[in-house]
Amino acid sequence: MEIIPNVHLVPGVRGVNIYLLVGSDLTLVDAGMPGHDSAILGYIDSLGLAGAKLTRIVITHHHLDHVGGAAAVKQRASSLLLAHPADAPFISGEQPPLPAQSTILRMLFRLLGPVLPRAQPVPVDATLQDGDHLDLLDGATVLHVPGHSPGSIALHFPSERLLICGDTISNRGNRLGPPPKVFTADMDQAIASLRRMAELDFDILCPGHGAPVVGGAGEQLRALVRQLA
Ligand SMILES: [Zn+2]
Ligand SMILES: [Zn+2]
Repeated sequence: MEIIPNVHLVPGVRGVNIYLLVGSDLTLVDAGMPGHDSAILGYIDSLGLAGAKLTRIVITHHHLDHVGGAAAVKQRASSLLLAHPADAPFISGEQPPLPAQSTILRMLFRLLGPVLPRAQPVPVDATLQDGDHLDLLDGATVLHVPGHSPGSIALHFPSERLLICGDTISNRGNRLGPPPKVFTADMDQAIASLRRMAELDFDILCPGHGAPVVGGAGEQLRALVRQLA
């Protein structure tokens, strides 16, 4: 589904948003859960872009629902994987996942651990730092917006007035909010990151979960940040 020209939400994927950016080559932002690779590559085929190179996969943060499908896509499309250095060790498997923030969740994970899907570790080919410029659409700037995870990033596209934010901003029932507390490593840091993003000029928001907001997203985020004051 094309949200704005050359920015697609990959259909047929439940529970998480995967975005495809179309230019002279293709870029994926997040790769969904393990097993989502066929939906991604099938969608690229359906757009008639099978001949275009899926050059890179940008991972917004290390959580399973965003990185789980990356190993298979990377292998099938020979893409480069890009992420922030603070999340890279969790993606590459050099460090075990951070413990959940709530006792109940920690107990659940311990009980269900053996049957839960796991992300196959995947090498990070290049790291993205705050302020890096990426040649995507009409140009994107990388923002390091930690809190939800240590290395969460967002991509700001000033010309398109677009922000792709991973899980740093939630959209539940068309209401923007902070990321869910139980899955967030450092809530104070996450709120500070919200304030930083609220200062950006953007109108369209592509979050990791919930519907994209097309129009008025920056204003909605500024209203949220005022409420949090
Ligand atoms: Zn997350
Ligand atoms: Zn998520």
